[in-house]
Amino acid sequence: MVRAKQSRSEAEAEARRQIVRVCRRMYERGLIAGTDGNVSVRLADDRILITPSGVHKGDLAEADLVVTDREGKPVVERGRRPSSEILMHLLCYQLREEVGAVVHAHPVHAVALAVAGVSLANCILPESCLSLGFILTAPYSTPGTEEVPRALRDLITHADAILLDRHGSLTVGPSLEVAYNRLESVEHTARITHAARCLGEVQPLSERQVEKLREVAARYGWAQIPRGCDECNACPNGRAGTRGAPEAGEVSAQIEAALARYLRS
Ligand code: 13P
Ligand code: ZN
Repeated sequence: MVRAKQSRSEAEAEARRQIVRVCRRMYERGLIAGTDGNVSVRLADDRILITPSGVHKGDLAEADLVVTDREGKPVVERGRRPSSEILMHLLCYQLREEVGAVVHAHPVHAVALAVAGVSLANCILPESCLSLGFILTAPYSTPGTEEVPRALRDLITHADAILLDRHGSLTVGPSLEVAYNRLESVEHTARITHAARCLGEVQPLSERQVEKLREVAARYGWAQIPRGCDECNACPNGRAGTRGAPEAGEVSAQIEAALARYLRS
């Protein structure tokens, strides 16, 4: 969320600058190509500032961004159409009150691993366990449709970084800076995982090593503390079996209505 002391218009202006900067950085770092990806920030009164649909994100201007209400309806009529993934962004804000920004990209290595069926949920690198918790993979859903939030809603309450199978990444955070940094961490983790797998078998951290990470994460108040092996089934150390599956998220009638309306539009 943008800083509380700023006036509403200053906060919106700052959010516009941040989104344009992040989109340009995503493009320059190869985390998106052309019109790929979308970024949003939660403004005051639960308004959402989001990238427009179908615009090259490397060339985006602050004036191109779209303000919507909490159901994704643009506040200004006859302006640009909000991102086709607006429902995915709304879902994150609705299910996670503390989320202030959402970033969706198409990072090459992370998506390639998902396409190849390689999960990034295992605790392999201590730093990514600490900064990201799990990187869960959501089942395939058709981009730009209501299938995307449906595939995500059981996972987003448990994870700050999710891969959409064969499509891209979703990272969230209290601020745009954190959500964007998580995207870079996801792709970096994927690159290291890929390089390591090319060299040989990759072992997850031991249960004791994960337990120590949990202690560090709790001490520093880091976002998603890695789960203990009793509650997890992401790697051979996990003993949760099917109990490791996350429970269904609560999606209000409001987002169900927004999904239905989007389908009709
Ligand atoms: P938009 O330009 O509509 O945001 O679409 C980009 C994208 O990545 C869809 O998944
Ligand atoms: Zn996409």
